[in-house]
Amino acid sequence: MSIDTRDNTPQTAVDARTLHNYIGGEWLSAEAPAGSLDDVNPATGQTVARVPLSGADDVDAAVRAARQSQPAWRAVPPQKRARAVIALREALWERQEDIARLVTEDMGKTLADARGEVLRGIESTEAACGIPHLLKGENLEGVAGGVDVELLRQPVGVVAAITPFNFPAMIPLWFLPFAIACGNSFILKPSERDPRPSELIFELIDGIDELPDGVLNLVHGGHDAVNGLLDHPEIDAISFVGQASTARYIAERSSATGKRFQALGGAKNSLIVMPDADLDASVPAIMSSAFGAAGQRCLAGSVAVLVGTRAEQDAALDALTAAAADLGVGPGDEEGVEVCPLVGPDARKRVAGAIEAAVADSADEVILDGRRDAGPGGSLIGPSIVTTSELESDLAREELFGPLLAVVRVDDLDGALEFTNGSRYGNAGSIFTTSGSAARAYRWGAEAGMLGINVGVAAPVAWFPFCGWKDSIDGDLHANGKDAVEFYTRKKVVTSRW
Ligand code: NAD
Repeated sequence: MSIDTRDNTPQTAVDARTLHNYIGGEWLSAEAPAGSLDDVNPATGQTVARVPLSGADDVDAAVRAARQSQPAWRAVPPQKRARAVIALREALWERQEDIARLVTEDMGKTLADARGEVLRGIESTEAACGIPHLLKGENLEGVAGGVDVELLRQPVGVVAAITPFNFPAMIPLWFLPFAIACGNSFILKPSERDPRPSELIFELIDGIDELPDGVLNLVHGGHDAVNGLLDHPEIDAISFVGQASTARYIAERSSATGKRFQALGGAKNSLIVMPDADLDASVPAIMSSAFGAAGQRCLAGSVAVLVGTRAEQDAALDALTAAAADLGVGPGDEEGVEVCPLVGPDARKRVAGAIEAAVADSADEVILDGRRDAGPGGSLIGPSIVTTSELESDLAREELFGPLLAVVRVDDLDGALEFTNGSRYGNAGSIFTTSGSAARAYRWGAEAGMLGINVGVAAPVAWFPFCGWKDSIDGDLHANGKDAVEFYTRKKVVTSRW
């Protein structure tokens, strides 16, 4: 493992520009009554932009532009709306490397990971290109003499998405293409920590003739902008991704104003390692799941559940420890780096503090300790592996969102499933095994919406929903796939007699 030992003093760029909102087809200075925040490159500590903290008036301007564009956009035939999404797909494809580089600079993840993220966002855009097919309704002829029934899908109206820092390109693209393909007008409030990938996506949107002004709007900001969206009477639906506590808040405040919502929250995903697992293939998959993006993925495997005799568990733990100790740690744009900085020094402090708390509280042993150097941006921390026999401890149960793999031991698959299903979260999980019957029992019994069998990061492709359960979602409909079309349309059933 190599940790950067250069000067730890954060640097600040004096000429960082202030970002603009994109409203009604124009780049506008935000009124931002609360000022601005710095968007900081976590690898260097350098401020790369200033993010205006838009307020209710900025949000209102975006909502008015979106509402004004609605009647005409809704009337654009679905195949022409699909063409607009195809044009967006082409523009994203063309500029994918530039978007990926901004993801790495703003958020910290490795360039390889950022490229993968952008491709995932492009796939969501591609999935929305099939909208004429996806929007088709149903009908039933002759339910009574001369009476037919048909089901139509119509857009919800003006919709907004509020997105997290950890996938600053992909998650906005889970929502934006499906929303407009279904005929809605859309407002994005990206994470205030790393909004430049969204800004570039909107620059591309600005150049697409098929997208009328006001259909797509971008409002930068933090909590005030979010509250402005949640409380605005002219917004019909809210899509959200972020922490579980914020998801609950979004759900409650959206319902208070009668909005449709989907709020995807946090996770604590377990990775079950059976005694028959092929460790040569499984260990790299577990490394990437636990430590890729420095553990800042909602699909990250953050608890390894080692199954079998003590000797079998030890063999798996030794293999995991050796592989983790060998991971390259450093800035995301450096060759050979696998564990990148966290999103900021605050996140590093939180993760280091959690390791300290675990040592004082529930840890059996710190097998690998990543708390060495913070790197020049103050955000770097190496991979850690900590064992615990306290299965209900925070270490085993709470989301940490950092490069820490908790390890628990159980005797058999029943014990592994009992532990997995005891989580309040139900986003994802994986089993590593060479046994078909163990894999089938896991698929049958695991209480999570996205499962991997010998796959460490069980991310569904965009033609399927992104399918968390339990406290990993508030609301019923997920992002992507047919769920996106369900969420972004209202059904109407017409009964006719002729
Ligand atoms: P976060 O909840 O802090 O922020 C998400 C968004 O909500 C941001 O745009 C932020 O401005 C806004 N926000 C945060 N707190 C708010 C408040 N009190 N009032 C109003 N607005 C508020 O989440 P994050 O730290 O940016 O993202 C990481 C979290 O997202 C992790 O918990 C991760 O598991 C989760 N996540 C979940 C999924 C999923 O599909 N379930 C996917 C990615 C990330």
